Amino acid sequence: MDGRVIESLARQVLALRGEYAFDTFWLGTRVKGAEDEATATALKREVNRRVGERVERLAPELLARLQSPDVRITLNYPEGTIEPRVTPLLIYGRYRKLSRQIPQSRWPCRWCGGQGCARCGGTGKRFAVTVEELLAGPILALSGATGSKFHSIGREDVDARMLGRGRPFILECRDPRRRTFDLGPVQEQVNREHAAEMGVEELRFADAALRDRLRLFAPDKTYSAVVHCLVPAARARVEALAGLRGVELTQETPRRVLHRRPNRVRRRTVRECAIEIPGDGPRVERFRITLRAESGTYIKEFISGDEGRTRPSVGGLLGAPCDCIELDVLEVHCDPLRDAPGRGAAQEVDEG
Ligand SMILES: [Zn+2]
Repeated sequence: MDGRVIESLARQVLALRGEYAFDTFWLGTRVKGAEDEATATALKREVNRRVGERVERLAPELLARLQSPDVRITLNYPEGTIEPRVTPLLIYGRYRKLSRQIPQSRWPCRWCGGQGCARCGGTGKRFAVTVEELLAGPILALSGATGSKFHSIGREDVDARMLGRGRPFILECRDPRRRTFDLGPVQEQVNREHAAEMGVEELRFADAALRDRLRLFAPDKTYSAVVHCLVPAARARVEALAGLRGVELTQETPRRVLHRRPNRVRRRTVRECAIEIPGDGPRVERFRITLRAESGTYIKEFISGDEGRTRPSVGGLLGAPCDCIELDVLEVHCDPLRDAPGRGAAQEVDEG
């Protein structure tokens, strides 16, 4: 074994700190020119051990770690080169979406699928701004990361607001150069600069286990919707809607998402339902319905009936065509920092 190569590899591992801040690392070795598998295995182990010891000697503050290290480094022997793979930086929080004009996360242009075309001005995006980007801006700047990915427990429609305590998410930042900074000022900055579009709270650094766990949650949501009756409905029938508590809905995939999802039938339960009717006239044209429903319930279709694809529906029960003209999510009923994932059902991405 060439001691100079070992020394050079150890020095390169240390020099990496000039580029990426890290406290924990994991080493793996790739060898060339070994006679057989057994020799290769022994050589890998030896290179790993010697470089690891040398790094420890030169920088005792660095810790070798197998489980979620900040960086995984492949040592090439005998070439004497290294290949770092930096672990993404994960940040947990809950977001509110206060605008009906922006989506939660990146939405590719429907014409070019994200490649960039004349219709999207070369951006590849259907919406100029997203919650993800408003939040990622300052975090990418502070971490020096090159890009982000958004993980969340479901998502609301673009024209729906996400209110209350907000929706749990994890922002995954690729290739971060810095891993520790204060998230408090980030939260304040986002809430101040984008107060019209969004809010964020509970920002904190997270681990891969929490990110992986997030997709196992399928929590109930509470919604509030303004319903418009195209033909004014009898007040008593509108009031009777409050009795929908515990009713099971049969929903075929909505027509508006059929272009990207297979047609199937799902059953979802409305757990609670409350009605608010403005004024006191005998006929009602507009009212508010607030309901808690199982994860994955299509609320707009529950109101309109979607041409008979959702049964029962508000329109069907009132005997008058109805539309949802405003939808808000008031609560996503889970706390991933404390709760275990609900029924373990894979979550449906869309709702609303
Ligand atoms: Zn395009």
